[in-house]
Amino acid sequence: MSLRQVISSYKFRSEAAHVSLSLLNRVLTKSVDVMLPPLCGICDTLIEAPGLCISCFQKMRPISEPMCHICSRPLAIILPQNICGACMIEPPPLRAIRCAYQYNDASRALLLPFKHAGHIQNAATIAPLLRQAFSTIVTEGHIIIPIPLHWRRLLQRRYNQSAEIARRLCRPPFSKRQSAPKFVPKFAPEFLKRTTATDMLRGKSARQRQQELKGVFQVPKYAYPAIQNRPVMLIDDVMTTGATLYEAARTLQRAGAGPIDAVCFTRVL
Ligand SMILES: [Zn+2]
Ligand SMILES: [Zn+2]
Repeated sequence: MSLRQVISSYKFRSEAAHVSLSLLNRVLTKSVDVMLPPLCGICDTLIEAPGLCISCFQKMRPISEPMCHICSRPLAIILPQNICGACMIEPPPLRAIRCAYQYNDASRALLLPFKHAGHIQNAATIAPLLRQAFSTIVTEGHIIIPIPLHWRRLLQRRYNQSAEIARRLCRPPFSKRQSAPKFVPKFAPEFLKRTTATDMLRGKSARQRQQELKGVFQVPKYAYPAIQNRPVMLIDDVMTTGATLYEAARTLQRAGAGPIDAVCFTRVL
């Protein structure tokens, strides 16, 4: 374990407990950045600015046009209205999903340590890679909500990886160097809770995932007035079948929110 990882392992955030040590985290992060040169988020080689080295970046597979404008599936040709057959037959409960990269060996190498080995610092690599996709659909009225973890998983992992990405996407100045709008969207991780723990969904079919996830999310009563008819942007790290996003979107819609959009770092194809 590198010094950077040891220091990062002491950074603790918990939406569930409403504990905020952000100032301490910022001081620690600044100290690490000053003391240590940045490393590639995947292969740990020294680089000039935080992010990925050229070799690792070239292994990432961006999802770009032509793609389905609802579910972000790459299309072989440009279709009328840019909607894929699956979304035509069964329209998802979301208006637009944008996934920045395909889930492949490179993006997996960035995500697995982030989710399962405490590498919270990978959020600082992922968020800039996601900013372009985020900027294309975010509006000033959006409420930004990361897909929540169940409190037991949160205690085990110590942080919610999707919240860490979302927090950085909403951080002011929203867009200093890019041509995106200069506003700070409302970041509200407390507006959606995961009330039921689910087993690992890996290897399960779309139908099984849908069944497993039914009713696992809840909008707290205190969030109802704030979300009425407000557009919501969900943030997640991986979109597999879409079952998690769809269930979260349905829960928010039942509570009065809408329309619902989503931005994910990667998409399984
Ligand atoms: Zn690298
Ligand atoms: Zn689609």
